[in-house]
Amino acid sequence: MENRQGQGAPGMPRWASILRSLLPLGAMAAVLVLAGGFLGLARPLATPGHATLVGLLVREAQDLLGHGDMRALGDALHQALAEGSDLKGYYLQRTDGTLVSVGGEIDFERPNSPAGAERHPLVVGGLPWGELCLSFKESAGLSLVPWRSLPFLLAAFVGVLFIALAALIPRVRRALAASGLRVESIFQGLAEGAVLLSPDGKIVNANGPFARALGLPLQDLADRRLAEFQWKALGRAAGKPDLPWDLALSTQAVQADSTLVLTSPQGDHHVFAVNVAPLFEAGQGFMGVLATFSDQTAAFQKTATLRQALATLQQQRREIDQQNEELKSLATRDSLTGCLNRRAFLAIFEAELLAARKRGYHLSCIMSDIDAFKSINDTYGHSAGDQVIVHVARLIQATVRENDHLCRYGGEEFCILLPGMAGPEAAQIAERMRAAIELRAAVLAKVAGREIITASFGVTDLALAANSLSELIDQADAALYVSKESGRNRVSVFGRERLDQPFPQHPVHQL
Ligand code: GH3
Ligand code: MG
Ligand code: MG
Repeated sequence: MENRQGQGAPGMPRWASILRSLLPLGAMAAVLVLAGGFLGLARPLATPGHATLVGLLVREAQDLLGHGDMRALGDALHQALAEGSDLKGYYLQRTDGTLVSVGGEIDFERPNSPAGAERHPLVVGGLPWGELCLSFKESAGLSLVPWRSLPFLLAAFVGVLFIALAALIPRVRRALAASGLRVESIFQGLAEGAVLLSPDGKIVNANGPFARALGLPLQDLADRRLAEFQWKALGRAAGKPDLPWDLALSTQAVQADSTLVLTSPQGDHHVFAVNVAPLFEAGQGFMGVLATFSDQTAAFQKTATLRQALATLQQQRREIDQQNEELKSLATRDSLTGCLNRRAFLAIFEAELLAARKRGYHLSCIMSDIDAFKSINDTYGHSAGDQVIVHVARLIQATVRENDHLCRYGGEEFCILLPGMAGPEAAQIAERMRAAIELRAAVLAKVAGREIITASFGVTDLALAANSLSELIDQADAALYVSKESGRNRVSVFGRERLDQPFPQHPVHQL
């Protein structure tokens, strides 16, 4: 688990390092030389003096034998032996095996051994006479003789090979370890948290970023299970989340892009994007899983801050919209009843009039006035009068369609615009309003101390030849006047044959 960074041999002097590098090479070279020696490839070289002496003696021996001077030959060989040269011994032998002369030391057992003697054939008068065998001291180039002994060579070979391998093995081991270190170093160097889990779900290795997020030392994570820590699904307050590594361990398949919140033992929260991949080793099968934890906390905090700012902005926007609505309402609505005020109504009326003319639609206008309203004010007070106005406005509003426009035209006067509706239908609507007020406002009337509250209506239609907005309103007003004059609580339509005849005819209900 610890973060090992050891590379080579720290603290070793440079010369020692170079020496260590050269040691295996030197040892290998020595192995090759020894192997060559063992195979007989490297032979000791005779010295120049040695070769000259041999040549001289052989030539002199042939000369003296040619002259038959055996004695002089014996003297010459003796002299060579006595002169302190490398010559250690000799013998002179005829081809029939007769020893003619022997001097010094000579190994008759191994006459052909390089360490024993050198045998030189002698030819006299063109015919083989015999041989001169010369034995030399070891210092004259045959000092390598002990090296050539098989046990020695084998021992030396094995020894040097051992040294070479001993010098090479740590290096090989270091090279192998270095590849492991490189993997470990990559694992530890990852910016995101990484955890290696065994097939039974225990932590085999974890890196610094993950341990730091947890606020625990790396060594405290070994052999523990990730489920021991506090995980939560993002946005869910309670409940155990699905842990992707458990799923990857059971399915041995990749689990990508889960988002989990980790609460460290210190209470810090980390939002992680978790990816888990199964690990397989050739010949060994499933080895566990590698889980990576990409810390998204900062991004989520930023998003949360942005979301908060957005919510504040939206709230402010709503407040502004509401204030605008209120301002608009203040500018266009009557504060007591919520009906359109006169100014806004006239603007709408103008537009509807243009549209109706352009497209040839009907456009009806109803004018209404609460009957004998003054006496309510006078008898029960102004606020009781206000309540009656509000109540009548609601009843009228409940009768009209959505695209009709209701306006509080004056104190207790209402004007209703009905686009697309012809006069007779508008008169029926007005009658429905009248009846509703007469029936329902009776309850309020009783509360207010009155027996009944009624209203009168005047109806007109654009088709009845009004040339302008004001003319249309005047027509509705004129019809309303007819209703008032003919007894109130009734509906009159402008342009009927007899304007003074209310339409439709109906009884006045008395409660
Ligand atoms: P009728 O229409 O049947 O001829 O008789 P009326 O008593 O209703 O007569 P008119 O329409 O002339 O009287 C309207 C009265 O409404 C006069 C005024 O004091 C009262 N009024 C006007 N605006 C308000 C208001 O906002 N609140 C209250 N309570 N009364 C108002
Ligand atoms: Mg009035
Ligand atoms: Mg009135």
